[in-house]
Amino acid sequence: MDERLRQELANWLKFYRELGIEEFYQRGTGTLACAERTPGSVTPLPATPDAELAEAALSGGAPPAPAAKPALTETKPVVSPIAPLPLPHAGASQTVVFAPPIRPPAPSLSLFETPAPKPSGPESLEQIRADLGDCHRCKLAGGRHTIVFGEGHPHAELVFVGEGPGADEDEQGRPFVGRAGQLLNRMIQMIDMKREEVYICNVVKCRPPGNRTPEKDEIETCSPFLFRQLEAMKPRLICCLGAPAVRTVLGIKEGITKIHGQFYDFAASKALATVHPAYVLRNPREEKILREDFEKIRQFLKGK
Ligand code: URA
Repeated sequence: MDERLRQELANWLKFYRELGIEEFYQRGTGTLACAERTPGSVTPLPATPDAELAEAALSGGAPPAPAAKPALTETKPVVSPIAPLPLPHAGASQTVVFAPPIRPPAPSLSLFETPAPKPSGPESLEQIRADLGDCHRCKLAGGRHTIVFGEGHPHAELVFVGEGPGADEDEQGRPFVGRAGQLLNRMIQMIDMKREEVYICNVVKCRPPGNRTPEKDEIETCSPFLFRQLEAMKPRLICCLGAPAVRTVLGIKEGITKIHGQFYDFAASKALATVHPAYVLRNPREEKILREDFEKIRQFLKGK
């Protein structure tokens, strides 16, 4: 490099250093690019032959021996070709490209743009009912008259879970209003409670055709609403009436005559299984089981 060019290059480098711009390298023939270093924002550039050349020019030393040129792509991230800067003095012919400071990517949200927090806390039964809507999530919807969501005290200590609505319930949109419901009412009275004090619902909210047992896919589709109801109420005790309720709520497949009357944990609640009132109506001698289990419920609720 001739002396005049070296001097001119040194002037350039000095000019930019005084501006606080420190990284220099050459990009392509006759093109200088520089990048201002923002603390913590840029990975230091590797020493390239071009950078060494510039450094040598600035210090007045001899240029280093030529080495293999790094690929252009290595320097790409710090170069942004925008308008050329005015030259420090006339006569220079190189195009200088200024790369704006590289900063960490702007966070997508500022403090003032933080999204509104999701409403926390338990859902209300009304919200769950609204979400259920005019449900057509499973095939039971086709044969029902009315969705039987459940009814009773929204903060009941005792929640009964049956199997699914029968014909009377489907007609009226209320759970346990037929013959099985009348037996359930008698049992509730037997333990000195009123129906309005408890909450009554079912595993599925639509009547299965011919009162058949709800099928696996129907239970899988509908039971999340039951679980949300239980979560919303957090009762002290859940009483599962019959095998489908026991299987759904507790995941227990054993026969109900074996496991009835025992207390299980369900989230923050306790749960107990007993025979379904409709089963007792068909097998009147089994009413004894129902009575015994309801006595256990009474004792449990008495103990605070
Ligand atoms: N049987 C049930 O399981 N649920 C009802 O609501 C009525 C009868």
